[in-house]
Amino acid sequence: MSAYFSTCYKTARAVFLSKVQAAAPSWQASFKHPLLSAQGEALVLDAVWFGDLNASKLLVVQSATHGIEGFAGSAIQSAWLDKAALLSEDTAILLLHAMNPWGFAHLRRVDEAGIDLNRNFVDFKVLPKAKGYSVLSKALIPLSWQPDALTKADKTLADYRDAWGERLYEEAVSSGQYTHPQGLFYGGTTPSWSRLTLAQIAKDLQLAKRKAVAIIDVHTGLGDYAVGEVICDHPPASLGVNWAKRWYGAAVTEPFLGTSSSVPKLGLIDYFWQQLLPNACCFITLEFGTGSTENLFNVLRADHWLAGQATEGLDKTLQQKIQQDLLTHFYPADKAWQQAVIEQGLVRINQALEGLQQV
Ligand SMILES: [Zn+2]
Repeated sequence: MSAYFSTCYKTARAVFLSKVQAAAPSWQASFKHPLLSAQGEALVLDAVWFGDLNASKLLVVQSATHGIEGFAGSAIQSAWLDKAALLSEDTAILLLHAMNPWGFAHLRRVDEAGIDLNRNFVDFKVLPKAKGYSVLSKALIPLSWQPDALTKADKTLADYRDAWGERLYEEAVSSGQYTHPQGLFYGGTTPSWSRLTLAQIAKDLQLAKRKAVAIIDVHTGLGDYAVGEVICDHPPASLGVNWAKRWYGAAVTEPFLGTSSSVPKLGLIDYFWQQLLPNACCFITLEFGTGSTENLFNVLRADHWLAGQATEGLDKTLQQKIQQDLLTHFYPADKAWQQAVIEQGLVRINQALEGLQQV
């Protein structure tokens, strides 16, 4: 089981590509990121197609939309390749490995520009306003990470949470902001490399022409431990939600209805697919919980603070602790958690493939 889980992007990619080769895909392309890893290796979004290239029904499985969260999605993709059964007629599967390869390789959730890819899919003509985030920005990423500065910052956040409640606090922090490039959940001011690459893949493969497309985007870090929450951000009662409920059952949660551990968000990658395939797609975020939301916010705050520091004179012990805490939150070194990820990931893939047959 744990053979699917790697210790770095390079190994995860190597494992994935070796299994791709053994499974003989009908199409394959590598999209090279302009930058390299810290070790000088290529950073690549690998796209692999199995089944008829003209199939009208398609399942897309995406990993590492949030770089460091890629270990789980990559493991599910590799596990599926090992077990890959024959696909039904007129049905294909597209694996997108490492949507944000820079973040995966550098063990960060964001990309090289600090952009959260999952807030980047907005129309940049008018940038959305995020008033709540602006109020909290200095407390979320304080200038100093010393205990007294942190205590003061934490109190500001606690006061906001007490005044507005947990849900509105989470929305203020995480729904997406477009004004603080070094801050949390920053959506950028232009389309990111990953967004442009996804658009290119969709064009190359004529995805807009398909009759029914299921997309599973694998994430980690939010929700109950070792549970893969099936989050659906389609509008309530839309066709996308109806398909999700029919295929994945009562497991489906909806941020718009307040039934999910996720709050409604701006610029999600879902919106790319919903726009590309109106009334012909069902996008779910398969989000594997790893710990509390408070811990999620705290490890991200520390990571973003660290990213804004000059390397010279930096406390190495503090740096290593922040990096380790981040990795532990998004990628628990726990065999039971990893097993749960593989099992539930494969169940959801099978449900999507079966669901597509009913469309
Ligand atoms: Zn994520």
